[in-house]
Amino acid sequence: MTTEPVWVEVDLDAIEHNLQEIQREFAGRSTLCIVLKADAYGHGIDLLGPVVIAKNIEMLGISSNREAAQLRALGFTGRLLRLRSAQPQEMQAGVHWNIEEWIGGFPHATTASAIATASGRSIPVHLSVNSTGITREGIDVSRPAGLAELRALASLPGLDVRGIATHFPLEDQQDIRAGTARFVDEAETATSVLREQGATSRIDRHCATSYAGLTVPESRLDLVRIGAALYGDTTADPKRFRRAMTVRSRVAAVNGYSAGETVGYERTHVLERDSVLASVPVGYGDGFHRSLGGRAQVLIRGKRAPVIDLPGMNCLIIDVTEVHGVFPGDDVVLYGRQGGGEVTSHDLELANTQIAADLYTAWGRILPRFAVGSAARRPALAVR
Ligand SMILES: *Cc1c(COP(=O)(O)O)cnc(C)c1O
Repeated sequence: MTTEPVWVEVDLDAIEHNLQEIQREFAGRSTLCIVLKADAYGHGIDLLGPVVIAKNIEMLGISSNREAAQLRALGFTGRLLRLRSAQPQEMQAGVHWNIEEWIGGFPHATTASAIATASGRSIPVHLSVNSTGITREGIDVSRPAGLAELRALASLPGLDVRGIATHFPLEDQQDIRAGTARFVDEAETATSVLREQGATSRIDRHCATSYAGLTVPESRLDLVRIGAALYGDTTADPKRFRRAMTVRSRVAAVNGYSAGETVGYERTHVLERDSVLASVPVGYGDGFHRSLGGRAQVLIRGKRAPVIDLPGMNCLIIDVTEVHGVFPGDDVVLYGRQGGGEVTSHDLELANTQIAADLYTAWGRILPRFAVGSAARRPALAVR
C-alpha cells in the first residue's frame, strides 16, 4: 500500500469493461475514435494506453504532441486525431507523429498548408465547421464569407482533408438533434466544394461525443469521438459504464472540540455543538480547491462526512462527530466508492458548480496515480 498522503487509483478492469461496451455499441457502424486527451482525462496514458492499444482501436483522440509521442512510443500505429486547433509551432512539430489536425478556420488552414509545403508532405486534416453554434472555432458555412473561405481553403496545397467535424456545446438531446441536422447539410455543402477542387480522400463526417452518440443515434454519422464513457463518467447510460477513478487519502489527526470554536482559515465555520474533527492531508495544492470548503463531502468508514473548513494548501478538516471510532490512518475517499457509500460525479458537480471533469482531470495529473484491478497485474502491462 502506498504511503502517499493522497492518491488516485485507476481501475483498469473498469476501463476494459467500458471499452468493450463502447466497441459493442459503435464498432462496425462508425469509425471509433477513443479520446485520450488531457492525459486520458487525468487517468494517465501511461496506465491505460497499453489497455486501449491492445484492443486495436482505429483512432485515438489527443490534445498535445506529448500525448502523441507517448502513444507512438507505446506502439500505437493507428490514426491520431488532435481534438482542438493546434498552434503553428505544435503543428509543425506534430508532423513527426503523423497527427491528423483539427482545422479551426481559414487563417489556421493557411498555416497548416504552409507547414505541409515546407515539410514536403501533406498533412491529414479535419475541417471544423460551426454547425452547432459552439462558436469557438470552425468556419461558419452559413455566411457567404464562410463559404468563400471554404472554397479558398479547398485549393490550398498540402492539405489532405479526411474529415469534416463539429462539436456540441450542450448535452441536450434536442439541441444535439438540431445541430446534427444542420451539420449534415453543411457537411454536404463542404464536401461538394472540396470535391470540386479535387479532394480525393474519404471524408468522414463527425460530431458525436459519448453523450450524443449514446442518446441521439443519428449523430453517429461516419466517426464517433468517445471519451467520457471510457472513464465511466457519462450521464447518457450511467449504469452501463463503470467509473474508473477513485481518489483516496487517510485521516491524520482526530480531536474533540467545544461548541462555539471556529474552524480553519478565515474562521468560516463555527461549531454548533461539541464536535469530533479529523484532519485529512489534502488541500488546494492538490487540486482540492478552497471553493469546495463547506460544500464537499468525503467518505469515511462508509459514511459521508462534510468538509467544513476552507481547505489549506495541504490539509482539510472533516466533521466526524457522527462517524464513530475515527482514528488516524482510516481510509478516506474523496471521489468514488467506499463500502456502500459513493461520492459521485454528480456530488462533485454540486460541490464545485462545474462538471466533475473540471476537478478530476487536474487531480489525476497532480496526484500520484496507481493502476488497480486484475488488468493492472497482467505481465504485459506491468512493464513501466
Ligand atoms: C473531449 C472531446 C470529445 C469527447 O467527448 P466526451 O463527452 O468525453 O465523450 C469529443 N470531441 C471533441 C472535439 C472533444 O474535445
